[in-house]
Amino acid sequence: MIQWLLWKLNSNPPTPRGYKGESIYQKGYIEMEKNRKCTNCSRILPLNKDNFHSVKTRVFNGFTYRCRSCEKLRDKLRTKNSKARVVSNRKRTKRYQENNQDKIIARITLRRAVSAGVIKKDECSMANISDCCFGKIEAHHDDYNRPLDVRWLCKYHHTKQHYKTP
Ligand SMILES: [Zn+2]
Ligand SMILES: [Zn+2]
Ligand SMILES: [Zn+2]
Repeated sequence: MIQWLLWKLNSNPPTPRGYKGESIYQKGYIEMEKNRKCTNCSRILPLNKDNFHSVKTRVFNGFTYRCRSCEKLRDKLRTKNSKARVVSNRKRTKRYQENNQDKIIARITLRRAVSAGVIKKDECSMANISDCCFGKIEAHHDDYNRPLDVRWLCKYHHTKQHYKTP
């Protein structure tokens, strides 16, 4: 009896029946792993498609480590969070619009004037002074109350204008 036990302990664990490579890896391991403990709710459930989502990776033995109901709950939370994010983004946009009304109106007026041909896009007004112009040409307003009074600046000089850093 003891000898039999020792032999049993020393011998390698049996390879799953029908295991002939990766193609039936899933099938072979399902035979060994009959139940699985969900890593989230700790319930022990039979390993099948009713309790776990199937995935095609050998690491998971063909099934996810969380049970179906836990995954469902997580998905629900995710969508809820993303919805909350959308709302907060909307609030932020609204706050920006309220605080920068003059800016926005000036931009719209200018865009209309440019598309109507009243004002034409020009070269960077710093081009003669500096030779390191680069980026898209943008309009800079010194005063948002005079929306058509703009200076054209390249992206580089425009950023410099606003942040006053080299
Ligand atoms: Zn669970
Ligand atoms: Zn420039
Ligand atoms: Zn500007």
